[in-house]
Amino acid sequence: MSDRAASGGVIASSRSGEIGPAAVAPIGGGRTPSAPPPDPRRGAAFLAALGSRLPGLSVATDPAVLDANRRDETANLEPPMPLAVVAPSTAGEVAEIVGLAAAYRVPIVPRGAGTGLSGGAAAVAGGVTLTFRKMAAVTSIDPANLVATVQPGMINATFKQAVAAQGLFYPPDPASYETCSIGGNVGTNAGGLCCVKYGVTRESVLALEVVLADGSLIRTGGTTVKDVAGYDLTRLFVGSQGTLGVVTEVTVRLRPTPPPKMTLLAFFATLGDAGDAVARITAAKLVPCTLEMMDGFTIRAAEEYGHFGFDTTAAAMLMVESDAPGAAAAEEIAVADRACVEAGATFTVASTDPAEADLLRQGRRQAWWALERLGLARMEDVAVPRSRMSELVAAVERILLEEEMPGGTFGHVGDGNLHPTFIVPRDDPHAADRIDHARHRVYAAALELGGTVTGEHGIGVAKRDWLERTRGEGAVRAMRAVKAALDPLGIMNPGKVLPD
Ligand SMILES: Cc1cc2nc3c(=O)[nH]c(=O)nc-3n(C[C@H](O)[C@H](O)[C@H](O)COP(=O)(O)OP(=O)(O)OC[C@H]3O[C@@H](n4cnc5c(N)ncnc54)[C@H](O)[C@@H]3O)c2cc1C
Repeated sequence: MSDRAASGGVIASSRSGEIGPAAVAPIGGGRTPSAPPPDPRRGAAFLAALGSRLPGLSVATDPAVLDANRRDETANLEPPMPLAVVAPSTAGEVAEIVGLAAAYRVPIVPRGAGTGLSGGAAAVAGGVTLTFRKMAAVTSIDPANLVATVQPGMINATFKQAVAAQGLFYPPDPASYETCSIGGNVGTNAGGLCCVKYGVTRESVLALEVVLADGSLIRTGGTTVKDVAGYDLTRLFVGSQGTLGVVTEVTVRLRPTPPPKMTLLAFFATLGDAGDAVARITAAKLVPCTLEMMDGFTIRAAEEYGHFGFDTTAAAMLMVESDAPGAAAAEEIAVADRACVEAGATFTVASTDPAEADLLRQGRRQAWWALERLGLARMEDVAVPRSRMSELVAAVERILLEEEMPGGTFGHVGDGNLHPTFIVPRDDPHAADRIDHARHRVYAAALELGGTVTGEHGIGVAKRDWLERTRGEGAVRAMRAVKAALDPLGIMNPGKVLPD
């Protein structure tokens, strides 16, 4: 006598009729499907097939174009040249390209604007990099339902402007918003400056159109506020860094435009005092739309870069913004101001003038470009529970000191998310090793504090070795099972996210 176990295994029965356990098939099997090694003949055959299937398609093999699409903004990453850079115009074309890539076992790397900081869009040897400059339109804006649909190549800031023209607001707000794309934001589940109140990209995505690794096209989610039909594939694809499928359309939730922001800047003599102020702001139960920090090094670099009027003698600066309606904004800023003063702020200033507030925000947004001018800069990204923010800041300070490396620390302290940025001379022959040593210490510190090795930039290629330490062996096994199910040939952005 036998019976079927839920797992599909056979429940063993002995001669005595006793029923015992059967072997359980392990989830995932521990391996990630890997793309076959590049083969120039296979690549050439793929390009020939692509040319005859889609004769009007933009396919670039010019070395200058390949080189321009090779890297993202991650320092110290030298990816190989891709086989070709292809710019489809429709989802149908993407489906054809991916279907052919599967047939010829050619890897596909979806690429947004290449502003990523974990190597997610870095080229793969023998692979085709897909760019979305020809798929960058707003498909629809539906004010009645507070929903819009947009193509992946659309630049975040341009999309914000398009919906703002209809009195609507798309919150996701990475500091790179003027250059990064919606597709890339979905790929990384981007955060930014206003997540403390509005959440990360995931919170704004309702539905996706995705081309799967076999070239089939699916829709996930819908346009209703509530929808719990089946597994939440939308959330699975958001943040998957192009390793599970190619996003060809994004449906997002909008909000009414919030009132103009009020801004508070507070300067501190020590980083510890700024950390204390963050704890007090949180304890006061404020939910400002922005709660950002810059350390003294970053303040001075930003001031030199853009002359924003920051106090360059300070060891830390907090920027607090409120977009609460009516008098509530002034009240929120006043409570935040009091918290900063009680924490020892040396100087605070509030601005109600939207143009001035905009300039101050630009000062924070420019932090990376200001630091990047000073040498070979590597922006890191770690996050901890908010209550442990001060400990993370102190750990980063200590690591920079011990590694004898200049660096700036800034970030979204309201989310517990910091961007320690290491700077070494461009001609330092040991630059890569020195940065690697320092960044690994910062990852370890974040994990010790109950945090994560990436708050918003993603694992990409840069942090694959830290995924298991962050998520645990069982979770990574489950991730491999998902990858194997959706991309059995391993052609979707291979070598990213999952460790080999
Ligand atoms: C100065 C600066 C400031 C930054 N500030 C922030 C910040 O505040 N918050 C933050 O989160 N990030 C920030 N970033 C990092 C970066 O801008 C974000 O990760 C952004 O989301 C990347 O968008 P992108 O269009 O450049 O995508 P890319 O870098 O081109 O790609 C990112 C990932 O998405 C995948 N992808 C792209 N398009 C698709 C698609 N159509 N389908 C499937 N996968 C796709 C890629 O394969 C890759 O893995 C900053 C970067 C810089 C340089």
